[in-house]
Amino acid sequence: MNTTLKNFNQIVIKIGSSSLTHDSGLLDLWKMESLVKQIANLYNSGKDIILVSSGAIAAGIGKMKLTEKPKSIPDKQAAAAVGQGTLMHMYEKFFSEFGITVAQVLLTKEDMYEPSRRAHCVNALEALIRHRVIPIINENDVVAIDEIKVGDNDTLSAEVCKMIHFENLIILSDINGVYNKDPRKFTDAIMIPAITKLSTLDDIDAGDAGSKVGTGGMQTKFKAARILASENSTMFIVNSAHPNILNELFEGKTVGTFFDFRKN
Ligand code: GLU
Repeated sequence: MNTTLKNFNQIVIKIGSSSLTHDSGLLDLWKMESLVKQIANLYNSGKDIILVSSGAIAAGIGKMKLTEKPKSIPDKQAAAAVGQGTLMHMYEKFFSEFGITVAQVLLTKEDMYEPSRRAHCVNALEALIRHRVIPIINENDVVAIDEIKVGDNDTLSAEVCKMIHFENLIILSDINGVYNKDPRKFTDAIMIPAITKLSTLDDIDAGDAGSKVGTGGMQTKFKAARILASENSTMFIVNSAHPNILNELFEGKTVGTFFDFRKN
């Protein structure tokens, strides 16, 4: 099985909130800069890259000096509105150090599921890629309330990958990969390096939602895998805290869990 990133030219990279922020919610600039540098390096090797980044609400919590994740919808919207600007400002700053232009793209569920909006969305993303700009996508949390919300960026990134027909999705998370059972509860849990059949997921307890700042847990990552399975696509789940994680994937080292649903 070919698991090196060298063989994929069109990649969606999803970065979770916990991969970008301190526990306080303030942006972890060291983590962010290191990820941007690795993404810039992949990009310079000639790949088309779309970034799906969480962290707006988390960054808003830090900036507004809130002590915990807001519970009411208007407060979440306010935190997202403050934090999205902060997030993009820092992405602009770090990517420009490497001569890369980025673009903010905020989506709601309708943009992906309503056919004419979806077509416009694909056209805009394709134009950005043609111009060698990296789109940085997030859900438009300020206006996307429950009925029109995707809700988590694992699902959003898989839908983006499917919509634009990219070959690979990398989910950068605070977990090492998929284990046969919850590694927080069982010391004998074993990590699964590769999954090629969806039925494998049925035998694993995906547990509940993940970290304090993000929305997703293993459940939403499995949902992302199911979306990509119908697309002949591939996905990595890796730990963003692992130093040089993207470079290691590029070199073909076995890290994290690789999902391969390509039909031979
Ligand atoms: N859109 C949310 C944000 O940027 C994150 C959703 C998620 O954690 O998946 O804060």
